[in-house]
Amino acid sequence: MNPLLEDWTAPFGAPPLNRVRPEHFAPAYDRALADHRAEIGRIAEDPAPPDFANTIIAFERSGKFLTRVDAVFSAFAGSMSDDAIQAIEREIAPRLSAHQNAIYLNPQLFQRIDTVWRQRQDAALDPESIKVVERIHLDFVRAGAELSPEKRDRMDAINQRLAELSTGFAQNVLADEEDYVEPLSEAQVVGVPVSLRDALADTAKERDLSAPYAVTLSRSSIEPFLQTADDRALREKLFKAWVKRGDNDGDHNNKAIMTETLSLRGEKAALIGYQNYAAYKLADSMAATPERARALLERVWAPALRRAREERDALQALVAEEGGNFDLAPWDWRYYAEKLRQRRYDFDEAALKPYLTLDNVIAAPFDTASKLFGLSFNQRHDIPVYHPDVRVWEVTQAGRPVGLFYGDYFARTGKQGGAWMSSLRDQHRLDGEVLPLITNNCNFVKGDPALLSFDDARTVFHEFGHALHGLLSNVRYPRLSGTNVARDFVELPSQLYEHWLEEPQVLSRFARHYRTGEPMPQALMEKLIAARHFNQGFQTVEFLASAFLDMDFHSKTSVNIDPAALEAATLTAIGIPEAIVPRHAAPHFGHIFAGEGYSAGYYSYLWSEVLDADGYGAFTEAGDPFSHSLAKKLHDNIYSTGGTRDFTQAYREFRGRDPEIDALLKGRGLETN
Ligand SMILES: [Zn+2]
Repeated sequence: MNPLLEDWTAPFGAPPLNRVRPEHFAPAYDRALADHRAEIGRIAEDPAPPDFANTIIAFERSGKFLTRVDAVFSAFAGSMSDDAIQAIEREIAPRLSAHQNAIYLNPQLFQRIDTVWRQRQDAALDPESIKVVERIHLDFVRAGAELSPEKRDRMDAINQRLAELSTGFAQNVLADEEDYVEPLSEAQVVGVPVSLRDALADTAKERDLSAPYAVTLSRSSIEPFLQTADDRALREKLFKAWVKRGDNDGDHNNKAIMTETLSLRGEKAALIGYQNYAAYKLADSMAATPERARALLERVWAPALRRAREERDALQALVAEEGGNFDLAPWDWRYYAEKLRQRRYDFDEAALKPYLTLDNVIAAPFDTASKLFGLSFNQRHDIPVYHPDVRVWEVTQAGRPVGLFYGDYFARTGKQGGAWMSSLRDQHRLDGEVLPLITNNCNFVKGDPALLSFDDARTVFHEFGHALHGLLSNVRYPRLSGTNVARDFVELPSQLYEHWLEEPQVLSRFARHYRTGEPMPQALMEKLIAARHFNQGFQTVEFLASAFLDMDFHSKTSVNIDPAALEAATLTAIGIPEAIVPRHAAPHFGHIFAGEGYSAGYYSYLWSEVLDADGYGAFTEAGDPFSHSLAKKLHDNIYSTGGTRDFTQAYREFRGRDPEIDALLKGRGLETN
């Protein structure tokens, strides 16, 4: 029995994730691809003249089974990967790409879509239907549907190769992260707080090491270690291993993949008629052009650099004060910053953690969603999951079911690093109401109970903001559902949501000591908020450096790019301080090389931040973080509308005006005056 081929009979029609095995995917994909091909063939060869129903609606209905299989496979590839899953991934990625190309480069199909598009204003369609026609038409044009047959063939070959390259890139980075483990003695964890030490002990046990502790290159393990470990030589060694991911000698080196990827992306953009890949990518975004995106990066760069230099001077002074006779190096920054923070704000991360249990940090954004949007969350134990760590909640609004929310919070072998939101099924109403099944993944270290840093808590709010964008979606067409929005708009719902974490009434209710239940002391909370601007020069600079890298990589037209040389040139050109490295160096910059999603799009986080900082200002100005009227505007214009609206217009209707950059600079403590 292949559960992927059966009807899904669990509550909410949820997928039988508990019964899916790697060997089920190949036959399911075979059938799904064949079904979809047949459906597309019927639309393309329909003898009736093309109209909205027989072309656009039929196209939106097609591929339902493939979407289903693909969603389940993505969940496994992201969270339960192993050799078998990776082998399928390598095999299926080029096949899926070929399949997509065959659809988006199908001349008969495009001709019909083009005809409906030309007649869209005279066909008595409602605005959402006109929008879906325009969106689908644009998808085809951007994929190369208008090209000559020879150019279409070339486009097809490029896309297939790019799919292979991005899978290879991600697998190389994962291999470098998983292969690396540093066994540590008692002496090597001096300075490291108890909670992290416990986690490092667990890691050593999991890996069957005889050493009492071990650290890995997962961000949630290495970053706090670099913040606190006194052993400078060890910090240097680990830091260098960390930034070297994807750039080591041997099978997992990403250099050739990057060069080929950039060259093919440049060629692809040229085929469609753009000067470079960045121009092609940005044409379908809120920013619209690379120049507008770059102008934002540059506007923030100068004040960030100024602040980072002040921060470096303060850290260097601390080195001198402790009798250190060296220039602050990248492996020192986090360590001395943490010391300085403890001194200035008189608390350490370790004092904070007992107040941030994972369960409370999950409950807090739920409660916020209840106050803002009237949502309720009830944990269910009858929904199939792929791992016992996954928890599922039924989400309701005034007694009406909204969808399911899956939370998979712990790091484990075979899970991609970082945190992300995904969807097992998108909301739509094409043929009756289909409710969304939305997932969040994080990589927290287990514990009893699991205790989080404040940044981790922010991540939970962030990903949950994305989840709400999926859950509250209220649209008719799948293509316009939930997070199917412009790349530089998609971080607005998530980044905006982070602001509620810092609201005193949220913190005082949910930040409670795991043993005593005592709320976080007022003084600690005030210091936490006061420390908000600390080290923001560093954080902004390391982010912007990666954003400039991304933009430079994708603005080139030459075919033989040496990524290391280009990276060095960019960093010299912007004048990055010596003690800071980009947040993501190119060889492990998965945002831009493991898939095309954020390629020429890493700036999007900052673009969205202009919107979220300015947007949260509406609540601050109203003097009520849960203002009912503002929450309704937010829901009606941002969280529920998916891709049905013009994003600039949608923002304007929520805020009452266009966004201004001041709130972003103020939020990061980078104001110039
Ligand atoms: Zn995000």
